Amino acid sequence: MTRPVTVVTGGSRGIGAATCVRLASDGHDVALAYVRDDEAAERTATAVRAAGGRCVTVRADTSDEADVDRLFETAAGELGPVTGLVNNAGVTSRPGRLVDTGTDDLRRVVEVNLLGTLLCSRRAAQAMIQRKSGVIVNVSSAAATLGSPGEYVHYAASKAAVDALTLGLAKELGPDGVRVNAVSPGVIDTEIHAAMGDPERPRRVAATVPLGRAGRAEEIAAAISWLMSPESSYATGAVLRVSGGR
Ligand code: NAP
Repeated sequence: MTRPVTVVTGGSRGIGAATCVRLASDGHDVALAYVRDDEAAERTATAVRAAGGRCVTVRADTSDEADVDRLFETAAGELGPVTGLVNNAGVTSRPGRLVDTGTDDLRRVVEVNLLGTLLCSRRAAQAMIQRKSGVIVNVSSAAATLGSPGEYVHYAASKAAVDALTLGLAKELGPDGVRVNAVSPGVIDTEIHAAMGDPERPRRVAATVPLGRAGRAEEIAAAISWLMSPESSYATGAVLRVSGGR
């Protein structure tokens, strides 16, 4: 049997990095896309190889069509035909009310979280429908159904759009043998909170989580792993909430 070849966007750090390592231990070869942090990408690639997977790292901004084309061409050229995609790359901006949020922040969040997911999904689907098989998992957010008032409604809206895209694309690609699902994490302890200027957020929000704590990246990677695997062969169009009950 040939090994699955999976593109993981935002694979250098956080949930994406945990996903790359988990998929490697599940038997995947991994094309890891990142945008800025070369060292983190190389660290994760080393962990992927230690877990038994081949790994290629590609610096590619998922909101840029030419970068996305280069990412998929490199993945196929170095590892073989792409069989899976994890749309994990995502950003947010400083927490605050919409009335105080700048247009650049609105644009960047929508471009990475929504346009990036659309561009990567389109590129993957073009190859997958020819092979009549493939798996796509989108990383959404529990924010999509909470709305995130006072923090980042633009981020929540971009993730609600990812949920709609998951449902629609699952219906569109089901007849082509391609499954499309999403995982919706709650608050997970990664660097995304420090990047938006609130490193203590996972600790602070823990009190509002029924399970009493923030989640770990590996706990999201486990859900992604299941949706990427043949174990979930009848699941498509699903949005799996992994949020500690929040
Ligand atoms: P993170 O720790 O900040 O890591 C973000 C990753 O995405 C990094 O690998 C980063 O690359 C990459 N990235 C950012 N913009 C990119 C772009 N335009 N093109 C390619 N790669 C890009 O974030 P995280 O917390 O793991 O979040 C991962 C996903 O989970 C996101 O979609 C996020 O919205 C979602 N999520 C997170 C939480 C949470 O509480 N952490 C909750 C719900 C949903 P560099 O290393 O090069 O910067």
